[in-house]
Amino acid sequence: MTHNTIYQQRLTAVRQQFTTWQVDGVLISSPSNRRWLSGFTGSNASLLITPNNALLATDFRYWEQATAQAPDFTLFKHQRRAEDDEAFFAAISAANIGIEANHVTLTEFDRLQAATPINLIPLAETVEPLRQIKSAAEIEAIAAAAAITDQAMAQVNNLARPGMTEKELAWTLEKTMRELGADEMAFTVIVASGPNSALPHHHPGERVLQRGDAIIVDMGAQLHGYKSDMTRTFHLGSEPDAQFWAVYNLALAAQTAVLTHAKPGMTTLTIDALARDVITTAGHGDHFGHGLGHGVGLDIHEAPFLSPLREEKPVVSGMTVTVEPGVYIPGWGGVRIEELCHVTSAGLEPLSRCPKIPIIHL
Ligand code: ZN
Ligand code: ZN
Repeated sequence: MTHNTIYQQRLTAVRQQFTTWQVDGVLISSPSNRRWLSGFTGSNASLLITPNNALLATDFRYWEQATAQAPDFTLFKHQRRAEDDEAFFAAISAANIGIEANHVTLTEFDRLQAATPINLIPLAETVEPLRQIKSAAEIEAIAAAAAITDQAMAQVNNLARPGMTEKELAWTLEKTMRELGADEMAFTVIVASGPNSALPHHHPGERVLQRGDAIIVDMGAQLHGYKSDMTRTFHLGSEPDAQFWAVYNLALAAQTAVLTHAKPGMTTLTIDALARDVITTAGHGDHFGHGLGHGVGLDIHEAPFLSPLREEKPVVSGMTVTVEPGVYIPGWGGVRIEELCHVTSAGLEPLSRCPKIPIIHL
């Protein structure tokens, strides 16, 4: 399969949605959606897709890059003037064009609508449901990003020492991932130590690591646009108390239940419940206040969302999902263990392979 064919297939798939969306074209400007549809990686562009046209509008900085990266699209030279917006819409014929309601600001909406008599129809989602099903090449890219994360995470047992701050450990891990080839971080590295480990998305700060701390490390490398996401929880020192083991083994049992029993065809809620039931039965239901997981790809958090707070959807082969149960006890600390998985006909196949060795020997 050639490079171009993938983008032609994606264009066909998006055009097949027009009837459902009740539009006769769509304007795509969010970075991940336009990259997935066109291959273009620059910071500014809009795609205008109708049954007969596929236009990519971008400014002078990107004309050469767009021509090279997005040969399935016709380049429209756009210098961000009002007359360029008018000419862009005038290049196609349509009555109703969908736009990305979760990306376009109210200011941009007013500017675009003023440029054309075409009705702009806000759509809650466009290609996000299509992006859930990963191609073999996408899975390869995500696995490559996950492999870098694996190698860096495996260093934590050697790197984390009493006396260093959360920020110092986070920077060392970021540097390690860059040295291993990461283009950038998929998100800011999370290091949460001691009582801070009770905060699911703690931002690493000046707290000094101490013997006896639980330490949550949640991080991911990004490579060729694709992201990865993994969490491990550690104990600083050889003798954790009974509470640490109880909470650690509970989170692990919840994750194991999902990795063992989740199958394609189950819903997002059913899979979330596989973990949540284990934690609730142990009396810690109130201490698991977030969803079980999410898809990962060009975005760090993308569909599907395995959460009781989100709409129930089927989970099918080809998706990626994280499995990240957590137990957070205010004042004491917390444990989260996260594995990034590929959904296959057999079940959930982990893409992250770093072993779980919670004890940091000092
Ligand atoms: Zn994570
Ligand atoms: Zn995650």
